[in-house]
Amino acid sequence: MLGNPRTLLAKALRGRYAIGAFNVNNLEILQGVIRAAEAQRAPVIVQTSEGAIEYAGMTELLAMMHTAAKRASVPVVIHLDHGKNLDVVRAAIRSGYTSVMFDGSSLPYAENVARTRQVVRWAHANGVAVEAELGAIKGVEDFVSVAERDAAFTNPEQALDFVTRTQCDSLAVSIGTAHGAHKATGDITLDVARLRRIHALLPKTPLVLHGASSVPDDLVGATHLYCTMLGDCHRLEGAKGIPDAQTRLAIRHGVTKINTDTDLRIAFTAAVRETLIEDTTVFDPRKLLGPARDAVQTIAERRIAVFRSKWKT
Ligand SMILES: [Zn+2]
Repeated sequence: MLGNPRTLLAKALRGRYAIGAFNVNNLEILQGVIRAAEAQRAPVIVQTSEGAIEYAGMTELLAMMHTAAKRASVPVVIHLDHGKNLDVVRAAIRSGYTSVMFDGSSLPYAENVARTRQVVRWAHANGVAVEAELGAIKGVEDFVSVAERDAAFTNPEQALDFVTRTQCDSLAVSIGTAHGAHKATGDITLDVARLRRIHALLPKTPLVLHGASSVPDDLVGATHLYCTMLGDCHRLEGAKGIPDAQTRLAIRHGVTKINTDTDLRIAFTAAVRETLIEDTTVFDPRKLLGPARDAVQTIAERRIAVFRSKWKT
């Protein structure tokens, strides 16, 4: 069934669990994610980035997601991830997304407020929820000094002003997560003290964690094993994600939507690579992508277990 993002996130906030938001680029990933949510009896958010839309088309992706949502036995939210182009955001609002993210985090503060406010007006007039972002979500290595890192992270007082002025429904915060498979070189510790301050000032605003994949060793190991057999194994060296314990801690302090993309990509690739190397006679795309779909389901179920959204439909 199609889920209402506001109701689902409000319930998650009260119940101290998070809803998994999984990036979808094709049919197999979508099916893997929906099957995982149904197996866990968990509400789920399927989201497409501007990149996914460029790759597969908004109309095509929406048709697949709507069909899947309607047939699913659990609530499914259809979300636009990292909308930066206002034309794409507006098209998403008009076309049937139930929720959109407007990412104005790289803009000067006043402009982020003004554009987010505009998107909120368009979206709310169409019954669509808005996620906004304040603070830069980058790799830890991108910061030269502690002061620089501090400046990029979400400022709690500014977050309160931002949500009050924009009336956005949920807020993506920067507290030490990073996009991609290489989130840090050393240990990862999220700035939970900052998160607690934001949550204390905005107790009713669902907070969103981006760049939160776990990059599990066994999956990275699987891609390594098979790429070693190909004689080229550098791409995922040093890959590192957010430890599950850190994610659980964030959920205790207002985080109710957690994005996962990298973990799905790694699982998908490991499965395709395994099939291609284990059986060089395979040339049926279904035999390549079927196991990848199963791998996506497995990792999505693992994520849902960490988020504690099992049985929360
Ligand atoms: Zn993101």
